[in-house]
This record gives sequence, C-alpha cells and structure tokens, in this order.
Amino acid sequence: MSSDIIFKVQDSLKTKISDFNYKNWFKNLEWNYEGPDNVTISVPSKFVRDWLSDNYVELIKFEFFRLTEKEHTILFKVERKMNRTMDLFKQSEATQSESKDTEKRLLPKIKKQTAEPSSNLIKHMGFNPRYQFDSYVVGNSNQLVHAACRAVATQPAKSYNPLFIYGGVGLGKTHLLNAIGLQVLKNFGNWRIIYVTGERFTNEVISAIRYGKTFEFRQKYRDNCDMLLIDDIQFIAGKERTMEEFFHTFNALYEARKQIILTSDKLPKEIPNLEERLKSRFSWGLMADIQRPDFETRIAILRKKAEEDNIHIPDDVCEYIAANVKDNVRDLEGSLIRISAFASLAKLPVTLDLTKEVLRKIITETKPVLCVENIQSKVAEFYNLKISDLKSKRRHRNLAVPRHIAMYLCKTYLASSFPELGSKFGGKDHTTVMHAVSKIRNCLTNDVTIKTDVEELEKILGI
Ligand code: ADP
Ligand code: MG
Repeated sequence: MSSDIIFKVQDSLKTKISDFNYKNWFKNLEWNYEGPDNVTISVPSKFVRDWLSDNYVELIKFEFFRLTEKEHTILFKVERKMNRTMDLFKQSEATQSESKDTEKRLLPKIKKQTAEPSSNLIKHMGFNPRYQFDSYVVGNSNQLVHAACRAVATQPAKSYNPLFIYGGVGLGKTHLLNAIGLQVLKNFGNWRIIYVTGERFTNEVISAIRYGKTFEFRQKYRDNCDMLLIDDIQFIAGKERTMEEFFHTFNALYEARKQIILTSDKLPKEIPNLEERLKSRFSWGLMADIQRPDFETRIAILRKKAEEDNIHIPDDVCEYIAANVKDNVRDLEGSLIRISAFASLAKLPVTLDLTKEVLRKIITETKPVLCVENIQSKVAEFYNLKISDLKSKRRHRNLAVPRHIAMYLCKTYLASSFPELGSKFGGKDHTTVMHAVSKIRNCLTNDVTIKTDVEELEKILGI
C-alpha cells in the first residue's frame, strides 16, 4: 500500500516537472516509508540533497498530501554508495531522449534563424538589446542562476519550468531575463515570446476588463504564447483579478508545456499578499537566486562595462570603486559613468584622486552597512541589554519586546528569510520570527511607545 503511494507520487511528479528534470534529479533515488507518514529518500550526495530540499520538497509534500490527505515528513538521506554521477547542466543526453513526439505536437517546430532579429523587432518586443549573455559577468554569486538561464535559453520548455529568478535590486534579474528572451528570439525564430513586467501585465488585465477584451487577453497570453517572461512578478501581489488571470495563464501554459520565466525581488513565500496557490506553483520548477557580487566579480563587471563603453580606467581606480560600491551592480555602473563623464568634461585623466573626489559624496553618503549583527547591537544598546538577551529564550516583556523589534527591523530592512533570522536569533523556529514581526507591525498602529522606539531605532540605524 505504502509503496503504491510512492509510485503514485512519482508518477505525478513526472507530469509536473520536465522529463529532463525528472531524469536529472529523481531517477535512481530510493524512496521508503519509515513510519506511517514519514518518507525517506536516499540520495547520492549532499549536493543533490540540498537541491531537492531547496527546490522540490514542497512539491513532493504536496503530492503526498493530495493523494493521502495527510501531511508527510520527507527526509533526505545521503547514501554515498549510490554514487550517482549527477551533472546538473549536462543536458544533451537527457534531453535528446525526451519524448520528441509530444514536444513536436505542443511547441512550434524549431526554425533556425538565418538572420539576426532586427533591432526594431527587439525593441518592439520590449527587450533591451544590451542585456545579452555575452555582456553578463559570471561569478560565485550568480553562477547557478546563470547556468539555469543558459539551460532554459538553449532548451526552452525542456529543462526548468517555471524558472523563478529572485534577488535584490540591481543584481541583474532584468538583464538575465532579457538575455534568455533575446537568445530564444535569435535561435527559435518562430516562437511566440511575450516579455512584460508585472506592472504591464497588471495594466493589461485592467484594461482588458474595462474594455471587455478579456477574450483577446486570454488568447494572447494562453493560446498564442510559447514562452512567457514576466519581470518583477511580485508586482501582481495583492491585485486579485490580476492574480486570478495569472493563475489561469500559468496553468494553461504549464499544461501545454510552454516555458514560463519569472523574476522577483523576493522568494515566493516571502512575497506579501501573494496567493498561496501561486506561491506553490512558482516552486514547481527551479528557483534560483542572485546574490550580491563579491569583490572579484565587481572588478570583472567594471572592466566589462568599461570595455563596452570604451572607457579606460586604471586598475587602482577599478579596485577603489569595487571596494566601495558593493550592494548593487547598477550603482557600480553609475559610478563608472559618472567618473568618465566628469573626466571628459573637465578634460582630465581618470586617476584615483579624481575618482575619490567624484565619488566622495556617493560613498560618504552611503548609509552604515545594515546587517543582522548591526541591528542586534544597536537595539541591545538602545534598551541597555546584551546581544545574548536578544537571542535568549526568556520571555520577560523587557526582553521580548526589544527582541521582537530587532526581528521586525531585520525582516523589514534586510533581504533575510524567516528561517535565516530564526537561526541568527539563537536558533529559533521561523514561525517565532514570523509572529514577532507581525506583532510589531500591529503595534505600529496601536502602541505609541513601540512606534516611537521603532522610529528612533530606524534613525539610529540610518534608515
Ligand atoms: P535587477 O533587475 O535585478 O534590478 P538589472 O538587471 O536591471 O537588475 O541590472 C542592473 C544593471 O546592472 C544593468 O545595467 C545590468 O546590465 C547590470 N548588471 C547586473 N549584473 C550584472 C552582471 N553580472 N554582469 C554585467 N552586468 C550586470
Ligand atoms: Mg529589474
């Protein structure tokens, strides 16, 4: 009976994820019931374990629940003897053996372009021609997401569906989304690609409703689309009709095995007011995040941009910018442009001194680095407590309120997830942090003392 359920779950997974992904991640794993609702999946390496628990565990749990109506615990066990060679992005064999018949039926035949798409077409479709894979610098912070985007661009609708790219502002999400679209446009000329922002999608829903054009809207997005790219999907959160339309669009495209790629500034589960059913769908494929680039990658990005724009910058200048502008690639580019514009207007060579002068305002104006440790230390100081008090489990109000405020500030101003914060506050469960944050949010409207304290702390933290 139990192994029957396992088979059913596996069968259902096969229909929900691409053949490529199924073969790549699930083939040859051993599934066993250890107790009535406990399932162990033996995997060949830690890497596979982490990947599956980051990307598929929710879907697996969902399938067990759907079939048995019972919550299941899924445990991944690393069994080195399985020693399965897994090569994440070596797709050729796996994809070649995919069912070609179904693909042919569902997707337009691949037509290799003879000519490059015209720049008018590129612009008309909303793409930025500068944002290509060639101009994207790959480093530790974005290696995985870059590989996933490449995979989707070369084998659309065969590898990761949906592909969900998330990361902070100015880290290259829009760039990658464009790069995928442009490559598909170039290689699969007859594919119907739609590239929109979450905002534009919302506006189209509104005007379709207003002018009675929902039929046309649905035709465009569900029937006449082979690949849907939506930038900043978090924008649709809280907009009921848009979420509803998107839900049906997603289902229609997904069932027809059309490629969906989304970007967001947050993980689905952290997007406020996003429907649960959408959150769960977003995690059906692959979620890949972009981190802040490290120093070496920042240098490489600066060199690349300088080369593209024909700007000559000496090494010490490049290092100075990379060491001081850390959070956002857009600011990194902005600094470079500012220096080069200044130098050319003033007819001066680009030197380190000139750079310091030009960037002085930007760099000194940069707020003190906000991080969990900094927030904890400032909150502790403010309430005359020790940092260990904020991390302790003692529930006295004098400790609990500052602890909750610190958690609230961290959640509001840092891109940290609830589990991450739980562990940084003395190994607490993520639900504890969630409660703390929502408690303080409520207090901001009905507790003047807490509101004033929070505002004071925000000032101290330079927020
Ligand atoms: P996001 O959409 O994440 O806010 P963008 O894609 O708009 O960020 O990127 C901001 C700017 O930084 C763009 O000009 C983009 O070309 C550049 N950029 C970001 N990451 C990289 C990278 N790894 N290599 C080259 N340029 C990058
Ligand atoms: Mg963007």
